[in-house]
Amino acid sequence: MQAPLQQLQHPLLQEHELTLWVKREDLLHPHISGNKWRKLKYNLQEAKAQVKETILTFGGAYSNHIAATAAAGAEFGFKTIGIIRGEEHLPLNPTLQFATQQGMELQYISREAYRQKNEPAFLTELATKYNQPYIVPEGGTNQLAVKGCTEIIEDIPIDFDVICCASGTGGTIAGIIAGLAGERQVLGFPALKGGAFLKEEIEQLVYTYSGQHYQNWQLITDYHFGGYAKIKPELLEFIREFQEQHQIPLEPVYTGKMFYGIFDLISKGYFPKGTRIVAVHTGGLQGNAGFAERLGIKV
Ligand SMILES: *Cc1c(COP(=O)(O)O)cnc(C)c1O
Repeated sequence: MQAPLQQLQHPLLQEHELTLWVKREDLLHPHISGNKWRKLKYNLQEAKAQVKETILTFGGAYSNHIAATAAAGAEFGFKTIGIIRGEEHLPLNPTLQFATQQGMELQYISREAYRQKNEPAFLTELATKYNQPYIVPEGGTNQLAVKGCTEIIEDIPIDFDVICCASGTGGTIAGIIAGLAGERQVLGFPALKGGAFLKEEIEQLVYTYSGQHYQNWQLITDYHFGGYAKIKPELLEFIREFQEQHQIPLEPVYTGKMFYGIFDLISKGYFPKGTRIVAVHTGGLQGNAGFAERLGIKV
């Protein structure tokens, strides 16, 4: 399984004398996509070491992490349980249909109950109910996920100045920051509003992992397009053009917003001439089927 670097050609890059590589983490695995594979890797090893039969995790109805965990369970021999935020809607959307096909058992819980997803008492209750499963937090983010994501850096064999990634819970960027150990610059593009909260989360994840407070990173909070999974026509248009120009598919929740942001920053002269940029394609393309269905369009 390989995540090659693909260099982009674009008039804006020429004009501003920049180099932009895409780290194709989306190609790591057909179903355990991108950063979700990095985040699950050491959790799967740990679950095996603890002789767990079942992995339980949390997510929304379109969650890339739910799809990835279901596929990982099927591939590596675990039962999987998905605690899904909100009510059941039938027929199942493409994400949950896929998860079910991979053998995942779904339990729907109310939005209020879902907010307790990190509360010890709630986790104990779930552990009792499901016979002591290995529990992975929402989005797959924990310290073993951070460890897995440090390997994104080890897996980049070229020299670069700036690395960009989309952020949800912040586990992936935390691993990238820890992996760089203070070298180079990291730009995170939050997919949600509320970058200040995320900044603290990331700081904590990095510090717990490495014992360090690194300064070589920042969040670019201008490209969430109204919030998590919110989209605008210009975003969908950008994604369509990007795919046409570079033959690289994006999705509108994470990678579409990040690349939109990167190109917008480039057009505004944000990056000094000569900057070598790596943009991490974190995958998540399974979500496109659900988007297309909801919007009645092709994304
Ligand atoms: C989950 C996901 C992210 C966010 O990763 P975090 O570690 O939660 O910040 C980014 N991009 C894609 C495609 C994802 O599926």
